[in-house]
Amino acid sequence: MGVEERYKKVAAEVAEVCRAAGRDPREVRVVAVSKTVGPEAVGEALVAGAHDFGENRPEGLVQKAAVYPQATWHFIGNIQSRRIPDIVGSAALIHSLFEERHARKIDEAARAAGKIQDVLLEVNVSGEASKSGRTPADVRELLEVCTALPNVRVRGLMTMAPRGDAATARETFEGLARLRDELRAGLDAEQAAAFDGLSMGMSEDWREAVAAGATIVRIGRAVFDDAFEK
Ligand SMILES: *Cc1c(COP(=O)(O)O)cnc(C)c1O
Repeated sequence: MGVEERYKKVAAEVAEVCRAAGRDPREVRVVAVSKTVGPEAVGEALVAGAHDFGENRPEGLVQKAAVYPQATWHFIGNIQSRRIPDIVGSAALIHSLFEERHARKIDEAARAAGKIQDVLLEVNVSGEASKSGRTPADVRELLEVCTALPNVRVRGLMTMAPRGDAATARETFEGLARLRDELRAGLDAEQAAAFDGLSMGMSEDWREAVAAGATIVRIGRAVFDDAFEK
């Protein structure tokens, strides 16, 4: 199978799992994570109907977004202050914000670029030391900082589950969904309307994420790697 076929298969499976969970497939956006492939493979996924792509390095983001400006680009990687203007220049949505100083820099860069930058706050729900993100108890503080920044709009939360077991992944994703609901209750009506996103689920665990309410799944290998099977 090539990229086209694999993307179509994944998109069809996501729609099927949505229906099985009683959800409208239009509620879940598939972000094809193209960080390990070149622009040609992105082109193949576009032909297959993909419209959202994710990159975890600013170079890859800037390069591929320049080749395919018609696609929607997501930044899902580690944020470094000096690369923030590049990220803001190309990303429709930044998934991986968890530091206040980065929020302030994103606000400045977005103002300079004349845009409102949509962001998700990354949460370390599982508490694994190897994972980045805010602890659940600390997210509210960052959310308050962000809601006061005029050029930043918080669209929801993002997390990564521990690898391996489906039950733990499901618990992690349900934890993120509860946190989103709790935080949302403290926002004003306009902020609450925007704060609806849950970016969770990757090639191995997106099914659990969709069942737990994901609105964005980030799928790399299942689309771009011929060796991936699940
Ligand atoms: C690489 C990556 C993905 C995609 O992972 P796969 O297992 O290849 O689907 C999703 N989210 C983030 C943050 C990533 O870095």
